[in-house]
Amino acid sequence: MLNKLLTIIVIIIAVYFYLKLARSPLFKKKRIVNGYEQYRDWWGRWRFTHIYNAEKKVGGRIWKGHVVHHRDGNKLNNSPENLQVMKRWKHARMHYARRRNKKN
Ligand SMILES: [Zn+2]
Repeated sequence: MLNKLLTIIVIIIAVYFYLKLARSPLFKKKRIVNGYEQYRDWWGRWRFTHIYNAEKKVGGRIWKGHVVHHRDGNKLNNSPENLQVMKRWKHARMHYARRRNKKN
C-alpha cells in the first residue's frame, strides 16, 4: 500500500520536473525549415509557428486540405493579421494567377 503511494508520488514529481524542463527556454528552440519558422512545443516536437498562430486565430485546428497563407508573402511574418486559412486548391489557384500576372 505504502509502496504504491510512493510510486505514484515519484511519478508525479518526475512529470512535474519534466514539464518544468520542457517549458524552460533551453528547450524552447526555434529553427527555419523551407523558409518557415518552427518552434519546439512542450513535448519536444517541432511545429510550424504560422500554423500554430493560425490555429490560435481561428480557435481550432487547421483541417486537411487547408493551408495557411502569408498575405504579405513574407513566410517569416507570422502575426495573426498576416495569416489566412484557405482551401489548398484556392490557395494554389491564387498563387498561380499572381505568378501569371507578374509575367504579363
Ligand atoms: Zn500563399
